[in-house]
Amino acid sequence: MAEIVLANVSKSYGAVPVIEDVSLAIGSGEFVVFLGPSGSGKSTLLRMIAGLETIDSGTLTIGGQRCEQLPPGQRGVAMVFQNYAIYPHMTVRENMAFGLRNINLPQAEIASRVADAARILEIGALLDRRPAELSGGQRQRVAIGRAIVKEPRAFLFDEPLSNLDAALRVRTRVELAELHQRLRSTMIYVTHDQTEAMTLADRIVILNERRIEQIGTPLEVYMRPVSRFVASFVGSPA
Ligand code: ADP
Ligand code: MG
Repeated sequence: MAEIVLANVSKSYGAVPVIEDVSLAIGSGEFVVFLGPSGSGKSTLLRMIAGLETIDSGTLTIGGQRCEQLPPGQRGVAMVFQNYAIYPHMTVRENMAFGLRNINLPQAEIASRVADAARILEIGALLDRRPAELSGGQRQRVAIGRAIVKEPRAFLFDEPLSNLDAALRVRTRVELAELHQRLRSTMIYVTHDQTEAMTLADRIVILNERRIEQIGTPLEVYMRPVSRFVASFVGSPA
């Protein structure tokens, strides 16, 4: 079943078009990567799904509900930000619970969701620390934990590995794949990095100059690129 459906979505900033006529259906539990060069519109597309940017025309449906006019908190999706966006004055526990601030939940439920997420992310021993006492990788887990506690229909990631060093990038990539296996949630992941796309995606959506150039499995886009652009960007060297 399709969890997230975009139909003929377009957007401009002022007179400048940045997304043109994008249509896409993302299945429940699917790991979809938006891949394209810098400026192709990946972040804008993701932010429209999250509700952080308005949609000029077209429709967005999440979990069967039309969402163009819904505020971010009511869409059932959770964004994990590139720059972590965690608060230095809050403990790990408080930072994770912050994801639930707008939802009316009993304290016991909040505590239990934070504990569950901390166990999944293996940061249970760090719950009373503050971000300054954490490594970059641990901070990023806190940011992911803040999304997990919301129990969203879909996780949205915008270049989550770009601030990490090479070794941590590989390790975190593997952990994200494991997280997807474990939660079986729908995930949309934005990157300009072909290796990340090839290793993580069930399907890759290749964006080029405001439009979808090709949608396919990693093998399909690699073996059967539809254009010279896709071939040079991800295709087989032959
Ligand atoms: P990507 O994530 O693929 O690098 P973006 O979605 O960030 O691409 O940007 C697509 C285009 O929209 C770029 O040309 C960028 O300069 C422009 N853009 C992005 N955000 C804004 C904004 N808030 N105002 C005006 N132009 C923007
Ligand atoms: Mg971007």
